[in-house]
Amino acid sequence: MKTETEPTTADITLPITGMTCSNCVVTVERALDRAPGVVDSRVNYASERAFVRYDPTMTSVADVVSAVEGAGYGAVVTGEDDLEDVEAELRAREEASQRQAFLVGAVLTLPLFLFSMARDFGFLPAWSHAIGVDLAMFAVATPVQFYVGRGFYVGARNALRNRSANMDVLVALGSSVAYAYSVVVVAGEILAVPGLGDHVYFETSALIITLIKLGKLLEVRARGRTGVAIRELLDLQPATACRVDDGREVTIPVEEVRVGDTLLVRPGERVPVDGDVVDGRGSVDESMLTGESLPVEKEAGDPVRGGTVNASGAFRMVASAVGSDTALAHIVRMVRDAQGSRAPIQRTADRVAEVFVPTVIGIAFLTFLVWLFVLDASFTDAMLRLIAVLVIACPCALGLATPAAVIAGTGWGARNGILFRNSEAIQRTEGVETVILDKTGTITVGEPTVRAIHVEGVSDEVALTAAASAESRSEHPLARTLVRYADDRGLERTEPTSFESIAGYGVEATVGGETVLVGNRALVAARGSGKIEARWDEVAEEVEGQGATPVWIARGGAVVGILGLADEPRSGSAAAVSALRASGVAVAMVTGDRPGVARAIGREVGIDDVRAEVRPGRKARMVDEVRTDSGRAVAMVGDGINDAPALASADVGMAIGAGTDVAIEAADVVLMSSDLRAVPQALALSHRTMRTIRQNLFWAFAYNVALIPIAAGVLHGFDALPTMLRSLHPVLAAGAMAFSSVTVLGNALRLTRWRGPSETLQPRSP
Ligand code: ADP
Ligand code: MG
Repeated sequence: MKTETEPTTADITLPITGMTCSNCVVTVERALDRAPGVVDSRVNYASERAFVRYDPTMTSVADVVSAVEGAGYGAVVTGEDDLEDVEAELRAREEASQRQAFLVGAVLTLPLFLFSMARDFGFLPAWSHAIGVDLAMFAVATPVQFYVGRGFYVGARNALRNRSANMDVLVALGSSVAYAYSVVVVAGEILAVPGLGDHVYFETSALIITLIKLGKLLEVRARGRTGVAIRELLDLQPATACRVDDGREVTIPVEEVRVGDTLLVRPGERVPVDGDVVDGRGSVDESMLTGESLPVEKEAGDPVRGGTVNASGAFRMVASAVGSDTALAHIVRMVRDAQGSRAPIQRTADRVAEVFVPTVIGIAFLTFLVWLFVLDASFTDAMLRLIAVLVIACPCALGLATPAAVIAGTGWGARNGILFRNSEAIQRTEGVETVILDKTGTITVGEPTVRAIHVEGVSDEVALTAAASAESRSEHPLARTLVRYADDRGLERTEPTSFESIAGYGVEATVGGETVLVGNRALVAARGSGKIEARWDEVAEEVEGQGATPVWIARGGAVVGILGLADEPRSGSAAAVSALRASGVAVAMVTGDRPGVARAIGREVGIDDVRAEVRPGRKARMVDEVRTDSGRAVAMVGDGINDAPALASADVGMAIGAGTDVAIEAADVVLMSSDLRAVPQALALSHRTMRTIRQNLFWAFAYNVALIPIAAGVLHGFDALPTMLRSLHPVLAAGAMAFSSVTVLGNALRLTRWRGPSETLQPRSP
């Protein structure tokens, strides 16, 4: 999804403090949207971040912060570079305070609980029922209620003040009812007012608070762990670089590296920034960026990327991108954006959550009234049902269900060179049933070699020099091959005085005052002069028969030669195709190349559905056709500029390899490696992530809903069942609730540790 940036807006990402549950997200968002000058805002509960787009002429960052504070939360202003550090610190502080609160709760609650159990079961002598003992229990339960439970009250107040109700409201309400009732009982005993009951429930209120606090503590800890991927990526960036100044080597902080600096990379060191090797050679491990496990040999002229490791050898490089322009910085931004985005499935969950809490409160009071007046239960029994319903229904795991899985899934992807632009892309990738692959540069290496030369009328050298000169400004793989081939033969290229690239056809250029055409037959037919002689078509046919692409060369409008350029499939392509088919996905190939060449490559990698001579503009329309014909969601995988429209029009566009920036812009998924096996892996990851989300939503939600009737006491009449179930004690409800949060997070963490798709879909890095 692309958002249009108006020139007058600025973006800022703020860590938010004090959010206790998913509804807080809605509260903070609402407060932000109401603030004047805020154009757009998005708050993520799992990463505890707000993304705010605002109009700097109307508001300031300080105003944005006070809008958040006005809603009862905190916002911390930090630079983009410090974001992770600041958050790590906030999280550590939060964890420490949660741990302290929990420990206090545990120390006070455990004896309280054991004592009251022992008393209820009659293990204790008569003195245990004295008024003084109840008073002592009151003294122990009170700090639990208001110190340990303070966060629930604050959260509830924030929510109510913003006219919404969250899980804090349920916890605060549930435990307060038990606590307040007990206080009334004690007061009645002291003041000798009869009829106020004689049993206190201090251990219930304290245990609810302490158990849910335990869930919170685990949640804070796990939340930190699902988000480690970005931390890991940031840690790839070395702190220093070795700059070569007039032959002297100086170590400087990496922030001081400028574009154009010459840097030395020794064996075992990390490449500090993006650049190009100028001399020396190295064997560079790029797995952290691409997921490809084999080291890549680098020598003069080869690009290297910051964060990769020079395993052996030493080289000097010239910096070409630093700071926020490096590939690594782009990856970090993309992962951050993806983790902060909301999947469609979550929007549904959020809407449900908003009406859920008020509904539950309604059900709880209804339960109370029914037990008290219809079923003639005692006041305390009816009250216990009320508390149990309030506590069991807490949707606190709900806010975590989707984001925790998204963060874990995108994090896993980032580690393996698979970058999803946003959560919606994950959801859409899951639905993909047909994958269309571009041929050149996607299935094949994209570095064709010259296999045949047929030239007439002039020497091979003259024809090659003209062709290479004309192609020198083209980015097309065929063009790059031609230029390299001519250079390797020591031919002197001349700069063309005019140049036009005709996507899907070739180039037209003026070289030495002469018009030169290099491209396919259609180009020469359309722009050349006169009819094409039949013998040239015979040559072209012969070249194609050898599995090579005929590249026509015309000078002054007349054909002078045909070259045969052949491209090999990448090593992982055939495996990728069979993995996709094994998982029930249809695979097709699309190319602008000749049918003969396309079929030859198709045979090699196992694709029958081959669509050749598809012009760039048609690729996008073909994607639409395939989708309408099959009625299935289509993914388009491509690498080049000419694939961008097709990437954009597919349900899921995947840019593969470092790709071109245009392709990356248009893509929903960026595959850092050029190994096609990343495609089935991305599909498997999306399935895995969506499955985790659905399981999480089940554990967070369906589970609570299913237990509401039990908490309300519908099983009461079934004498065969254990008492525990027939009248679910509020304490058990609190335990069940804490359990659902832990389950949801544990499930997301399991995804973080995923070993990758099995068998046919092996991960590329060990
Ligand atoms: P693909 O879909 O395989 O990437 P393109 O759509 O880029 O192919 O190009 C289609 C055909 O047009 C190529 O097979 C080639 O014959 C010709 N062509 C395009 N650009 C060039 C170029 N710069 N030089 C030579 N031939 C070209
Ligand atoms: Mg291509």
